[in-house]
Amino acid sequence: MTSTTLPRVCVIGAGPSGITAAKRLLDHDIPFDCYEASDDVGGTWYFKNPNGMSACYQSLHIDTSKKRLELEDYPVPDEWPDFPHHSQLFQYFRDYADHFGLRDRILFETTVTSAVRDADGCWEVTTNDGKTRHYDALLVCNGHHWDPRVPDYPGEFDGTLLHSHAYNDPFDPIDMRGKNVVVVGMGNSGLDIASELSQRYVAARLHVSTRRGIWVLPKYIKGRTTDSVSVPRWFPPALALKVKQFIIWDAGGRMRNYGLPEPDHRPLEAHPSASEEFLHRAGCGDIAFKPAIAALEGPRVRFTDGSTEEVDVIICATGYHISFPFFSDPDLLPGNNNRFPLFKYMMKPEYDNLFFLGLAQSLPTLVNFAEQQSKLVAAYLTGRYRLPSIEQMHAAIRSVESAMARQFYDSPRHTIEVEFDPYVRDIRRELARGAKRAAAVGYSLPISPRAHQRDEVKPSTAATRK
Ligand SMILES: Cc1cc2nc3c(=O)[nH]c(=O)nc-3n(C[C@H](O)[C@H](O)[C@H](O)COP(=O)(O)OP(=O)(O)OC[C@H]3O[C@@H](n4cnc5c(N)ncnc54)[C@H](O)[C@@H]3O)c2cc1C
Repeated sequence: MTSTTLPRVCVIGAGPSGITAAKRLLDHDIPFDCYEASDDVGGTWYFKNPNGMSACYQSLHIDTSKKRLELEDYPVPDEWPDFPHHSQLFQYFRDYADHFGLRDRILFETTVTSAVRDADGCWEVTTNDGKTRHYDALLVCNGHHWDPRVPDYPGEFDGTLLHSHAYNDPFDPIDMRGKNVVVVGMGNSGLDIASELSQRYVAARLHVSTRRGIWVLPKYIKGRTTDSVSVPRWFPPALALKVKQFIIWDAGGRMRNYGLPEPDHRPLEAHPSASEEFLHRAGCGDIAFKPAIAALEGPRVRFTDGSTEEVDVIICATGYHISFPFFSDPDLLPGNNNRFPLFKYMMKPEYDNLFFLGLAQSLPTLVNFAEQQSKLVAAYLTGRYRLPSIEQMHAAIRSVESAMARQFYDSPRHTIEVEFDPYVRDIRRELARGAKRAAAVGYSLPISPRAHQRDEVKPSTAATRK
């Protein structure tokens, strides 16, 4: 089949998810335009990204080891350390885009401001340059670590309150030397920032405020990267979880041994955070712990146990909202609690030409998650995969949701939690099932290409070269 007979696709975003999806479309000769708000690829991994959306800080190293984040057909450099710096990842994504000739297909500094599905089911996509084009399918790859979730504390605060998204280093955006700092939250950013600021030459006093204790995992177990330690594939999920929990207990011991609050759940019943450095800094007594913030009282912060502290800076490492500012259809907007159930973490059953890629908290890696998802997208758009019925998709979503509810405690952090390896195996099985359904309808296209007839502007190859 040629590109003129295949559906025309719009890809929103050229972060890791967008570029791997774009490459897959290119491989299958599927016509597409990829819109990127920034002046380069890389998304989150572009430090001080001019799009203002990157939460990257100066000292950030990825928590996923290099072999787990590697893209399938583009090996990471041999000389990389196990946990590369953000600048190395940024270069890797730039090299990937160059190697596969993707830059010519990306419209840089072009933000999608609106995406509306018209009566025919075509996507009418408008960009910040005022242009509108039509597409047969839409791939949303806009990331979910850019719209900060900031707690609404009662009271007034005399100091500076910022979200970890705005944090660059101990001196930027404000000089933290000699300050009393509270870091709220114990996700990976919270642990990194607290470890960095707790050095005696930076903050005068460093508290971590948390509603509940969490398990802080080591990045290495017995000299091997933790994310390369696995259990046999044939283990049933419940047994696999028990074995992994035991490995974590065995490697790290109890959290209170390091001075941390004791978790009220078992390992892996929350999205894990990993940092030997944090455990060490806490063990050295340079990090102290407080429960949740109850109120702001001018120069002081009151905590839920009734204690107060004089505080200069509060850094909220409290996560992100899932946001799609270009959608106005309420059906396509997640609720306040970040709940956004999708078939295979990708599709709303009622929308046969809309895919969300990279919209997951995938363990241990999100970097190459959309690369896997795009296999199903490409097979679908070329007629080699057919979806199950809408009812079957809803049933599959319900089953995943109840499995997640059994493993993880209820929190906006856990609405899109998924394990990478079982997910990839599931996609493989789903592709095989969908291939049979496609064969039964003679491999006809589920989405007929009609968008090109709607536009005077023909499928684009014009782009802003970097
Ligand atoms: C501090 C931090 C640490 C992390 N650590 C890890 C880790 O250890 N391992 C891991 O796997 N992942 C980690 N992540 C997750 C990280 O988000 C993913 O690795 C990866 O960047 C996801 O890629 P993405 O393309 O889906 O999203 P992003 O990287 O966010 O890229 C989205 C792209 O879409 C563009 N865009 C958004 N909206 C529009 C629009 N309307 N129009 C045009 N373009 C648009 C943006 O400009 C951006 O380039 C971390 C994230 C953070 C914030």
